[in-house]
Amino acid sequence: MTDNIPLKDLGNSSESEGQQSGTETFDLYQKKEKIYTRKIEGFYQRLRLFTGWPLLVGYFALPWINWDDRQSVLFDLPNRQFHIFEITFWPQDFMLLGWLLIIAAFALFFITTWLGRVWCGYTCPQTVWTSIFMWAEQITEGDRNARVKLDKQPWTTQKVIKKTLKHGIWLGVSLITAITFVGYFTPIKELVSQLALFNMGPWEAFWTLFFTVATYGNAGWLREQVCMYMCPYARFQAAMFDQDTLIVSYDPERGENRGSRKQGQDYKTAGLGDCIDCQLCVQVCPTGIDIRDGLQYECINCALCIDACNGIMDKMDYPRGLIRYTTEHKLEHKSGNIMRPKLLGYGFALIIMSLMFAYTIGSRTPLELDIIRDRNQLYRETSEGLIENTYTLKVLNMSQNEMSYQIRIGGLEHFRLKGNSVVDVAAGEILSIPVRVEIDPALLPNVNVPIRFEVRAQDQSVSVSEETRFLGPRIR
Ligand code: SF4
Ligand code: SF4
Repeated sequence: MTDNIPLKDLGNSSESEGQQSGTETFDLYQKKEKIYTRKIEGFYQRLRLFTGWPLLVGYFALPWINWDDRQSVLFDLPNRQFHIFEITFWPQDFMLLGWLLIIAAFALFFITTWLGRVWCGYTCPQTVWTSIFMWAEQITEGDRNARVKLDKQPWTTQKVIKKTLKHGIWLGVSLITAITFVGYFTPIKELVSQLALFNMGPWEAFWTLFFTVATYGNAGWLREQVCMYMCPYARFQAAMFDQDTLIVSYDPERGENRGSRKQGQDYKTAGLGDCIDCQLCVQVCPTGIDIRDGLQYECINCALCIDACNGIMDKMDYPRGLIRYTTEHKLEHKSGNIMRPKLLGYGFALIIMSLMFAYTIGSRTPLELDIIRDRNQLYRETSEGLIENTYTLKVLNMSQNEMSYQIRIGGLEHFRLKGNSVVDVAAGEILSIPVRVEIDPALLPNVNVPIRFEVRAQDQSVSVSEETRFLGPRIR
């Protein structure tokens, strides 16, 4: 339930004087007024629960889920391995992670061009965490009017208790958020037991503290200022918008002239539109803007003003949708166009990159071979008069299981491999294997011939090969 509909004070304020004279004066460094948002319920707020909760549950639960005897999602920086369920990304795969970020960026461009800032309004962590903090504010300090009153009144025991409770909940949520975040980089079970015993490593302690303060500051104190002054997306999203992008907009044609009216009055003959100028859409707005002034970069498309205005329209028995999701073209009574070059371009690029990424992941070989020649000695003559070169093979098993590999040699058929030709490599292990290769100098056609090492799994599931050089004496 909303509170009674507040009426706008149309007294002789300096603001109204300024607007009447057509000019407004702002102090560039004026103190920012604190925004007291009014709680509102409605269709879009229920919809936000369906987007916010899965995100929260996923964020807090993922590091606690085990997969193949290890944490399901773990960015193991010391060992330079990123585990995401079945897949492990190695430093060699950073290109793929780069791709993943580019795909995410194009997905955001595509969605923004099509549906506007739905990411900001429904799924952005800043929005979701701010909602949690606002809920904590609501249950500890009361509704909007109670909070305004509480802030104005002098410090009393009751005020201290309420504020302490609110900041306690904020700090608790911030700490849990920070531990979870650090738990994506350090095994979370160890981290939590270290925290319980006050025995955290210096880096873990630093980052936990850092993210606790960052969450507390961003969602508790800065709130809409993060969106307005710190988030780069708010600045460049205008480049993605076109006249068919979905936006939250007030319908001036229907709403103007705005103004209060008497019950039962035929407001249309009195020259009034559907907007009763109750200001509720402004009071619920988390960024404190008036959507009736037109599209503004501060608007995060949260649709709180739509729910608020629809509630008013219901009470007044007017049709809903004075503020609604629409497009500029629709507001101008023009037909929409889904086949826009910008939207098609982003969509096409997104599909192509996603397919290529899926193919690269699907055809990725979980085995890597690196060959290092012995740099101390070009070649060696053995007691049997053979020419010998020494190499170190570095075999990286990128699979999740221990593997047995067979090492073979290709090139001239007379090359002979000395040393282990079958090796067992544990999951995630890089095994260094010294090998020697021999040949009768009479069979060596040149001082420098290509030679190929092949490493093949004993179960034939995977193989890699790499070329290097075999050096011998000058042929007389
Ligand atoms: S647009 Fe709706 S909520 Fe906003 S002032 Fe007008 S009637 Fe009230
Ligand atoms: S104007 Fe409406 S949609 Fe935009 S941020 Fe404010 S409440 Fe949300």
